[in-house]
Amino acid sequence: MIDGKTRLCGLIGNPVEHTMSPVIHNTLAEKCGHNLVYVPFLVEEERLGEAVKGAWALNVLGMNVTVPYKSAVMESLAEVDELAAHIGAVNTLVRTQGGYKGYNTDMTGLYRAMRSEGIRIEDEEMILLGAGGAARAVAYLCGAQKAGKVFMLNRTLDKAQQVAKEVNAAFGREVIVPMLLRDYRELPDRKFLVIQGTSVGLAPKEDDVVIEDAAFYRKVHTGYDLIYKPFTTRFMKLVREAGGEAYNGLKMLLYQGVIAYELWNHVEITEEEASFVYEKMRQNGRFV
Ligand code: NAP
Repeated sequence: MIDGKTRLCGLIGNPVEHTMSPVIHNTLAEKCGHNLVYVPFLVEEERLGEAVKGAWALNVLGMNVTVPYKSAVMESLAEVDELAAHIGAVNTLVRTQGGYKGYNTDMTGLYRAMRSEGIRIEDEEMILLGAGGAARAVAYLCGAQKAGKVFMLNRTLDKAQQVAKEVNAAFGREVIVPMLLRDYRELPDRKFLVIQGTSVGLAPKEDDVVIEDAAFYRKVHTGYDLIYKPFTTRFMKLVREAGGEAYNGLKMLLYQGVIAYELWNHVEITEEEASFVYEKMRQNGRFV
């Protein structure tokens, strides 16, 4: 029941109508017995700074930040976590004495999601498809988690080169190798862990896929698509047809929320609690 002690958390973005974050956080609050409510806030671009200041003034406990404000919000914060500062994007604001501190739980969420599926990054030879905001964060994750060589394939080579330059400098080794997407035939002849980080295949364009060629999928032992709508993407189907294991991005979404919730409430969410939330997300998104 909402009463005088209820704490508020929320999401700022534009649009926010289709978000699944209220399902994650309100389910966790109920399951953990916390007096907390989570709501979406539609914020116009020119009001972003005011929205963050206003939330702090209203004693809002924490915020998530989504498209298109993950980078722009950083100038309104009191502090930014080191990893988030490297990535250049923040999706979680944690209340501190002087304002909010920004974190990037998309990246740590992906890592925890992969671990929960038994997928390891350390020493893995990898292919990363895309060089946009999400792929950039994954590239940092690969550096931080000591991946082997990571071939970053993008339609626009410049972007992959820029990410490679930054990530390789940050970790002091040649972890990211930038390549043009259409040059995928030049990849070494071996099996890779592949992360699909482009927006190709996202609903409603569910039949699209970034690479069609069956020969490419024979090089994939595990394919991880960051997309979760549709629940089984065309990329995932092609990976499975070639004999590989395939996963979607719904658990990444789950764990970015779980980690944000842990930061706001100073608790540890168990695997059992996370699985309970995952089932709620599947029902809510009609992924059944
Ligand atoms: P973004 O910054 O807009 O980047 C889009 C990427 O897709 C770029 O690399 C772009 O290549 C590539 N791309 C777009 N259209 C293409 C086409 N027709 N052919 C080849 N490449 C194409 O987007 P983002 O924020 O990184 O998000 C990427 C995906 O990750 C989205 O589908 C999003 O839903 C998903 N995501 C999931 C989660 C989660 O929690 N599961 C979190 C974040 C993001 P160019 O550089 O050449 O334009």
